[in-house]
Amino acid sequence: MTDVLVIGGGAAGMMAAIFAARAGADVTLLEHNEKLGKKIYITGKGRCNLTNDCTRDEFLAQVPRNPRFLYSALSFFAPRDMMTLLEENGCPVSVQRGRRVFPSTEKASDVTKALAGLMRKLDVHVRLNAGVRNLRTDGNAVTGAELEDGSFLPAGSVILACGGLSYPATGSTGDGYRIAETLGHTVVPPSPVLVGLETEEDWPRSLQGLSLKNVALTLASGKKTLYTELGELLFTHFGVSGPLVLEASCHLPEPARGALLKLDLKPGLTREQLDARLRRDFLASGRKQLANVLPGLLPARLAELFPRLCGIPESLSCNQVTAPQREKLLNTLKTLEVTVRAPRPLAEAVVTRGGVSVRQIEPGTMRSKKFRNLFFAGEMIDVDAHTGGYNLQIAWSTGALAGQTAGDCQ
Ligand SMILES: Cc1cc2nc3c(=O)[nH]c(=O)nc-3n(C[C@H](O)[C@H](O)[C@H](O)COP(=O)(O)OP(=O)(O)OC[C@H]3O[C@@H](n4cnc5c(N)ncnc54)[C@H](O)[C@@H]3O)c2cc1C
Repeated sequence: MTDVLVIGGGAAGMMAAIFAARAGADVTLLEHNEKLGKKIYITGKGRCNLTNDCTRDEFLAQVPRNPRFLYSALSFFAPRDMMTLLEENGCPVSVQRGRRVFPSTEKASDVTKALAGLMRKLDVHVRLNAGVRNLRTDGNAVTGAELEDGSFLPAGSVILACGGLSYPATGSTGDGYRIAETLGHTVVPPSPVLVGLETEEDWPRSLQGLSLKNVALTLASGKKTLYTELGELLFTHFGVSGPLVLEASCHLPEPARGALLKLDLKPGLTREQLDARLRRDFLASGRKQLANVLPGLLPARLAELFPRLCGIPESLSCNQVTAPQREKLLNTLKTLEVTVRAPRPLAEAVVTRGGVSVRQIEPGTMRSKKFRNLFFAGEMIDVDAHTGGYNLQIAWSTGALAGQTAGDCQ
């Protein structure tokens, strides 16, 4: 029998195994993939934005869902602790723009290598190609895991760290939710966050591939403003994506359909400044067609489409633009509206929202309130955060705390 059985060899599971082993427990980690940390390889576009070098309060401000639940875990194992752990295990890190932390080599694989190396040093038994089907229980205790191959592995404690439902090809297939539910835990229905948005309008699709580097986006539902931020937006084959849209997707109303994205295409200019600029440009351009003058203000592909978006004839020359038409141009430059149809599917989301209800997990230990020796860690818990290294840190912190408590129990 193993003291602590960790199910899932992603960020949370590896960290849980490390802390349980450091606490002196005999630890076995089961991973149904052929290798560890498959999702880590694709994080940060292969560079792995592994944490954010910020304070706990700054961190919690980036967690729209159940931030208070993370207070103890982040106090126990903070971003700085993760940076130190990697530095001490052969993976130097560097802090970049927005205090995002990456391995200095900019290779996500080096993070996994460092953690796998540390697990080896601590004699964690890692079993790959070992999927778990279910857990067995006796009263208010779990007794071990039933594997896909039909075998049973008894354990003193079990840590479930099976991830969510996004990018299922990396191994996060929702097994953890099913197992938790079978044991009577409430699973808040999973939904996609940090995800692109399909739009009702066709025109964003016609601009596929165009990126707007500096726009202000406001997400609104009816009269309510849900989110507003400055950044980069990308037009795609389904609508809109890019960092700004991914962040906005964390704040979508329920249902998302009909929510408005209001884009300020010239956030650096006030209405008055922009109006003065338009007057000046139109005066200087005389008989030139509007569509030929707008590229001074907008990327060429958007400029070509822009008069149509304002309901103004494309063939109009600058000296024919009337005051109401200039007003329309001005309004659309400052508030170009895009209607949300739906977020893209969960499989395409960077993170899964929902999961095991935080009400059924002790925040100071990560222990289930239903079973005295069952723990949860990582994305399978109902917490999620913005981009910037926060989601991986949630996995590291909750994994570390679950591992420490499970290890201490032995
Ligand atoms: C494209 C992309 C980019 C991202 N970039 C970043 C980033 O730069 N920074 C950041 O902070 N976050 C990023 N994230 C989010 C981050 O990767 C996750 O939040 C984090 O990996 C969650 O870790 P986890 O260990 O909880 O889950 P996972 O990494 O999903 O690990 C769960 C593991 O459990 C295994 N497993 C599942 N079921 C079973 C079973 N029944 N038996 C055995 N094993 C099982 C899975 O195979 C998997 O290895 C990104 C996500 C994606 C999809």
